[in-house]
Amino acid sequence: MRYVSTRGQAAPRDFEAVLLAGLAEDGGLFVPESWPELTTAEWRALRGLPYPDLAARILGLFGADDMPIEAMSRDAYAGFGHPAVVPLVQLDHRTFALELFHGPTLAFKDMALQLLGRMFDHVLEKRGERVTIVGATSGDTGSAAIEACRDRAAVDIVILHPENRTSDVQRRQMTTVLAPNVKNIAIQGDFDACQDLVKAMFNDAPFRAEMRLSAVNSINWARIAAQIPYYVAAALALGAPDREVAVSVPTGNFGNVLAAWAARRMGLPISGFVIGSNRNDILARFLAANDMSAKPVEPSLSPSMDIQVSSNFERLLFELLDRDAAATAQTMTRFRSEGRMPIPHAAWKQATALFRGFTLDDEGTLAEIRHLWTKAGYLADPHTAVGTAAARALPPADPAVPVIVAATAHPAKFPDAVERATGIRPPLPARLHDLHNREERFDVLPDDLRAVETAVRAHARRNAA
Ligand SMILES: *Cc1c(COP(=O)(O)O)cnc(C)c1O
Repeated sequence: MRYVSTRGQAAPRDFEAVLLAGLAEDGGLFVPESWPELTTAEWRALRGLPYPDLAARILGLFGADDMPIEAMSRDAYAGFGHPAVVPLVQLDHRTFALELFHGPTLAFKDMALQLLGRMFDHVLEKRGERVTIVGATSGDTGSAAIEACRDRAAVDIVILHPENRTSDVQRRQMTTVLAPNVKNIAIQGDFDACQDLVKAMFNDAPFRAEMRLSAVNSINWARIAAQIPYYVAAALALGAPDREVAVSVPTGNFGNVLAAWAARRMGLPISGFVIGSNRNDILARFLAANDMSAKPVEPSLSPSMDIQVSSNFERLLFELLDRDAAATAQTMTRFRSEGRMPIPHAAWKQATALFRGFTLDDEGTLAEIRHLWTKAGYLADPHTAVGTAAARALPPADPAVPVIVAATAHPAKFPDAVERATGIRPPLPARLHDLHNREERFDVLPDDLRAVETAVRAHARRNAA
């Protein structure tokens, strides 16, 4: 399996090289040169596999079988808090919550990142290399990256968060990880300051080379690949390939729903996709009126979907433009300079045949959480609630088609919203019960590039010694 860039100017690579590279050098995103497709009999043969084995089979089709993917997959999902790894919970006669939040940080990012940490480690050790991962977080994504990298032999990780601006649970999920290769830095500034510091480190070429800086951001192809298997597992459990299913995904960067689309591209009978957005509704506006225009980000009850530009959309755009890399590059360049994406009418039409968009504000989100609790006795987090409301608002035309809703976070990860809606404060799962009593470790630094680089250097060196 080889990978090409959506912008056509990067040399094709294999899975391992794409894993390490992240972004292609032409600014594009890596996609498979051709999509693996399974026959009906091949889909049927995957029924009943334990989730880690199913994931290894699917990832093998994308070239991950150069690694000991089966052992890595079993190891990655062994620590999850449910024996099914990704259980399906029925909410009404046709709607099923696909719970993707039983990993160590209680959100769906663990599904891919637990595997990616192990993949990174394996490939780097084989090459005799190491990397330093640096990242900035407003609270949610940092812990998933830290949990993915903790105790990995060839990886050091430094995560910057804005001092006193994350919730207690969010900070503690990061700062109580005391593994020697993990460093947390609280920056005396806001999230933008943290992000600017990370960008500045990457732009400091000598520093970047010296530290072998790397990132595990959401455009890494391996993250998308590792998100395909749970849609396969859910669809097979509901009767695919002999029955159609539909999918609803609360969406931010478009990575999760793109993985569902990839499963369809591989031949799984998914009739359509509903994209749930909060008030940051660029994708819904695109689908309603071909208006892909960036607006300032506004905070909402579902902060992991508070984004302005869905970076993984470029992969779908490439397909909508019949894999014309020059046209993709041109469209993305214009989006960058003008803040608006000019998408040809025919491509937009094609997108609207498969995807529908739904927007829910904070009031609606609270009402949906309340609705799920009173009707089904189900406590949902605000992100998941956007997905279930979208599924109910835009059901498939055929009433026999069940809808899989990606349940992307545990309700205890967003207890304030859940309590406001239902009066119930969801408790943390047993394995995190003592989170508030665990020892924390982090540095506090000013918003100053030299100070942060010095700290990163000291951290990476200590681990190299
Ligand atoms: C990241 C995240 C999302 C959005 O997923 P994308 O792949 O960025 O579209 C939704 N819900 C939760 C809880 C998340 O952490």
